[in-house]
Amino acid sequence: MNRKGILVVVSGFSGVGKGTLMKLLTERYGHYALSISATTREAREGEEDGREYFFKTREEFEQLIADDMLIEYAQYCGNYYGTPREYVEDQMEQGRDVILEIELQGALKVKRKFPETLLLFVMPPDAQTLIARLRKRGTETEEVIHRRLARAVEESEGIEEYDYMIVNDDLDQSVELMHSLIEAQHNKINRNLDFVGQIQREVRALVKGE
Ligand code: 5GP
Repeated sequence: MNRKGILVVVSGFSGVGKGTLMKLLTERYGHYALSISATTREAREGEEDGREYFFKTREEFEQLIADDMLIEYAQYCGNYYGTPREYVEDQMEQGRDVILEIELQGALKVKRKFPETLLLFVMPPDAQTLIARLRKRGTETEEVIHRRLARAVEESEGIEEYDYMIVNDDLDQSVELMHSLIEAQHNKINRNLDFVGQIQREVRALVKGE
């Protein structure tokens, strides 16, 4: 059976461990494609252009918007972030499941455009863990951490729009849960109506003795 690729959105509070989770998921299972976003924010130490993000100036980013090169884009803490269209469409055509690690506004835009998208929200086991992880990362100033936490509160108010939550306590279990949820999505009846119809026809033919 030929599987069509699924579009998966993963959101979650800053510092919740989404990046690590996704890295492990794609290493463990070969058929996932992780979309690389464009952004106007500064590269963090250790980040490389074209690996974590495509780093753009505001002018470059606005040109991408004008040329309709992005599936969605949003502003987050003063910077633009957006999903390049071409990669996502190519990968899905090849039957790969494409993961977008994006924030709430973008997630809602994707859901509106592609209603079959699976929306996952990664939660911390508790609020203290979140702050501790953000501080430990050591890449942001206290002011930025504060802005990101405020944004986390805002984002948590849109959580009802998502399909499933993943409480990221044990990384290994979270990876397996994410994989299972995506697999389950492949098996939804309304995604498999052709196959279901074919079996129904075959069984009917058997009953009639054809
Ligand atoms: P960070 O600066 O920590 O890498 O990302 C900040 C936020 O932007 C995260 O919530 C991340 O999921 C989100 N983000 C990353 N890429 C995109 C994108 O292409 N579109 C949207 N809407 N959000 C994104």
